[in-house]
Amino acid sequence: MREVSVSHLQAKNDGYVRKIEEESGQKVSQCYQCGKCSGGCPMSFAMDYPPNQIMRMLQVGLLDEVLNSTTIWVCASCLTCSSRCPRGIDIAQVMDNLRILATKQGNTAKGKNALIFHDVFLNSVKNNGRLYELGLAMQVNLKTGNLLKDAELGLPMFLKGKLKLLPHKIKGTDEINKIFAAAKQMEAE
Ligand code: SF4
Ligand code: SF4
Repeated sequence: MREVSVSHLQAKNDGYVRKIEEESGQKVSQCYQCGKCSGGCPMSFAMDYPPNQIMRMLQVGLLDEVLNSTTIWVCASCLTCSSRCPRGIDIAQVMDNLRILATKQGNTAKGKNALIFHDVFLNSVKNNGRLYELGLAMQVNLKTGNLLKDAELGLPMFLKGKLKLLPHKIKGTDEINKIFAAAKQMEAE
């Protein structure tokens, strides 16, 4: 079993954890491990560490383990945890900041499919002003090498007219492009 020196880890990662607190605006240190976030999390079944454990790991400085976890990529940003936390911690926001930090560090192996999904989703919104569901499903399957994923659901939906063959563009795509440009500018600052 691996021995962990908590004080050593805290000293090593304190700056990063404080940065996550600053950037997310959330006081991770105030978590008192009630577990309500994990109790309501709809994705905890697919996580290696439930949200309350992620909070504890951050408190004791286990940053590498957190950034290497599947949890941060499986989190669906549904905000259930944030709405249940008696300490008022927006855990979903912390997860967002952890994904940003992991991406900056190039630590995205476990988030590969999530990042592909985000890219395809955002490109679809950027190009059409709204989501083109069939295109999203086909591109994600192609890029993840999982060609027939969810085909058993997609085909009946398509046959019932729930999935459109071609994308439907909204009128104000110029405005949408401005939003994307502003977001890119903020990212660069
Ligand atoms: S935001 Fe993420 S961590 Fe929180 S409940 Fe939803 S899936 Fe779970
Ligand atoms: S609900 Fe809040 S206080 Fe409770 S374990 Fe989760 S983050 Fe900590």
